[in-house]
Amino acid sequence: MEQFCHFIDGRFHPSTSWIDVTEPATGAVYAHVARGTADDVNRAVQAAEAAFPLWAELPAAERAAYLYRIADELEKRLEEFARAESQDQGKPIALARSLDIPRSIANLRFFAAAALHVSTEAHPAPGMLNYTLRQPVGVVGCISPWNLPLYLFTWKIAPAIAFGNTVVAKPSELTPRTATMFAALCKECALPAGVLNVVHGYGSEVGAAIVEHPRIRAISFTGSTTTGEYIARTAGPHFKKLSLELGGKNPTIIFADADLETALPTIVRAGFLNQGEICLCGSRVLVERSIYDTFVERFCEKVRSLRVGDPLDEHTEIGALVSEAHYHKVLNAIANAERDGGQILVGGKPAYVDGRCKNGWFVEPTVIVGLKPSCAANQEEIFGPVVTILPFDDEEEAIRIANSVRYGLAASIWTQNLRRAHAVAAQIECGVVWVNCWMLRDLRTPFGGIKASGIGREGGWEAYRFFTEAKNVCIKL
Ligand code: NAD
Repeated sequence: MEQFCHFIDGRFHPSTSWIDVTEPATGAVYAHVARGTADDVNRAVQAAEAAFPLWAELPAAERAAYLYRIADELEKRLEEFARAESQDQGKPIALARSLDIPRSIANLRFFAAAALHVSTEAHPAPGMLNYTLRQPVGVVGCISPWNLPLYLFTWKIAPAIAFGNTVVAKPSELTPRTATMFAALCKECALPAGVLNVVHGYGSEVGAAIVEHPRIRAISFTGSTTTGEYIARTAGPHFKKLSLELGGKNPTIIFADADLETALPTIVRAGFLNQGEICLCGSRVLVERSIYDTFVERFCEKVRSLRVGDPLDEHTEIGALVSEAHYHKVLNAIANAERDGGQILVGGKPAYVDGRCKNGWFVEPTVIVGLKPSCAANQEEIFGPVVTILPFDDEEEAIRIANSVRYGLAASIWTQNLRRAHAVAAQIECGVVWVNCWMLRDLRTPFGGIKASGIGREGGWEAYRFFTEAKNVCIKL
């Protein structure tokens, strides 16, 4: 059976202890991943520290060249990586092929180019000159989740490396496969030993050891709000730089003047892409009352037609949920919503997929109406193929409902009224607003959330600021 080993100091290291890796579509164990310890993290930190001085001093163009080379190799093996991601995570192969792996390649190329184009400020004044140096932080920790495994892994390690840091990274123990393949690719592309180290294992063991390690100067974390709370509490006393990208309960706000014909496919996609396992998913759909009935009918019709199936089938639109525990969590959330008075209009049950997937963790795409904004299904992240729909009477009420949750990651607004689009966008409490679109991304823009969705921003200049320290140099002239 395949084994996913740690990658430390440019070499793969087996482990004395292993964790089962399961294929979500079949429920069967298909590989083992190393169960790392604090000692493994310590060895990775030592390797990263040893690599740091030379790496940080390399001209940016040379660091960028490594990233471009790795991106080119990844592009050549797009299909191999897409299959691996689909099997490991449960996502449809078509999605891994069109989103996960292309975006991972784009992350590498974007930050390679960024490293060549960033600049710093100068503050000239009579008799003195101040200028800012932006120096790499040192050894940084990058901890990523299971929903978009390689996409989010590269979203962190690409800027970290491009701007001169060395990295100790931990992918999710549920989806360790593509990060391991990626480490092998870095080795083939002769990335200097110690620049990227990957330590596998449980969050409470390896993740915690990274967060607590005194010589890891910054932590870029994407994952749940609960883990984010722990990291903030633990890393705070060490004065580490922190970027926390956490959960969301994102509103999709549809006004009566929205162009439903073009909006509907995107609103369905926003609710159900990747089985709803994307932090940006629009899981609360708020609809202006005058079009509520029509919207619900047309939305449900589209959701019913989504194809649940084997993730490796080209035509599958909804794959398997990542783990058995998550599958039960999603089904429990649906049962609780029903107990809270929700009416299930579509789905609501496990989905049965024949053949090799008969033991897989599939849940029907589910639409629930009739719930109060304050109930659990409208307040807590379910992170599965479950969307609730709520009516509202006017702009003010839409904003009030949208902001009534503890999260503040993203929102999408659907209207043809320009004044309203700007006014509502300004008043939603979140880090990202899309108007008449969803998940349309430009990697130069700030990305992140507020409230319980996290602190800090990544992407573009924000990533540059996070992965470097500003030092002001003042010269008396
Ligand atoms: P999670 O918090 O359970 O795990 C995320 C990572 O943290 C994993 O690698 C895990 O092993 C590690 N971890 C767990 N406990 C840890 C600890 N005590 N110390 C250090 N590391 C620890 O999250 P998940 O279930 O893998 O991912 C789903 C969550 O991620 C959802 O809440 C989703 O909204 C969120 N997410 C947010 C964004 C964003 O950009 N805001 C993007 C994707 C996913």
